[in-house]
Amino acid sequence: MTSYKDLGLVNTRELFKKAMSGGYAIPAYNFNNMEQMQAIIQACVETKSPVILQVSSGARKYANQNILKNMARGAVEYAHELGYDIPIVLHLDHGDTFELCKDCIETGFSSVMIDGSHLPFDENVALTKKVCDYAHAQKDYVTVEGELGVLAGVEDDVSAEHSHYTQPAEVIDFVSKTNVDSLAISIGTSHGRAKFKPEQCTRDANGILIPPPLRFDILEKIEKEIPGFPIVLHGSSSVPIEYVQMIEKYGGKLTDSVGIPEDQLRRAAKSAVCKINIDSDGRLAMTAEIRKVLVEKPEEFDPRKILGPARDELKKLYAYKNQKVLGSAGQA
Ligand SMILES: [Zn+2]
Repeated sequence: MTSYKDLGLVNTRELFKKAMSGGYAIPAYNFNNMEQMQAIIQACVETKSPVILQVSSGARKYANQNILKNMARGAVEYAHELGYDIPIVLHLDHGDTFELCKDCIETGFSSVMIDGSHLPFDENVALTKKVCDYAHAQKDYVTVEGELGVLAGVEDDVSAEHSHYTQPAEVIDFVSKTNVDSLAISIGTSHGRAKFKPEQCTRDANGILIPPPLRFDILEKIEKEIPGFPIVLHGSSSVPIEYVQMIEKYGGKLTDSVGIPEDQLRRAAKSAVCKINIDSDGRLAMTAEIRKVLVEKPEEFDPRKILGPARDELKKLYAYKNQKVLGSAGQA
């Protein structure tokens, strides 16, 4: 049993309070390897932003949870070494069972998500409550994120064929019965790099897909039901066209890619949305740079010369997100 405080981590409670009153959102960036972790910490130290390091079950399988835990400990020390201590959360993304959440809490995670959104309402309540009861009873309170409503798209082990929006009438019941600390909602964001089918979109003069707008009307109703309660948006990559075009220029194929426009995320960050999850954009940034190096320098075979530029691009992207999209820069 490791307490997250021994790793130098924090839970989301204070961070969300400040984000709520400050009108910004905390970035939640997924990591699976050293280069991603370095880029996240470099970007967040440089922009003085708090950060949520997210681990999916796919990441646990890929990297091993003890390695990830010690990378999070390393992240705290790395930030310190870079000259600025930022609040760092280690969060389980899309936990699907009580046992997985318990295991992560015992490993040293400071926050977990229990995703019962695919279950009937009462079963979602029961599962989420069980995780909250366990997490909140720890000596150092571990925070829990629940989810109501189903997102479309695919993200590691999480997939949903059909989305349905969060019902504003259900949220107060869910939050009060479970005692959850934050709530992920479905208002039109979606996992992956192709967030909408082309037929759901319009096209601009250049043939670029323009997605349907997020349902801010639903968000506003939810805010009225549970005023001041931290809301989470999953699937909030913007899928920059520059990266998609670069990947395709260097041999990739990412047909019909489309994300959530930055101005809509900025608007959401100013509301009760306190946490915004971004993963696909980081994948695109890294893949674009890796493909470029492999094509332009066919003689290169040192992984550091291939992954290094990808790491640098990822850092640049996340610093930009903190400053221009989430508004979390300068808040640590
Ligand atoms: Zn998600």
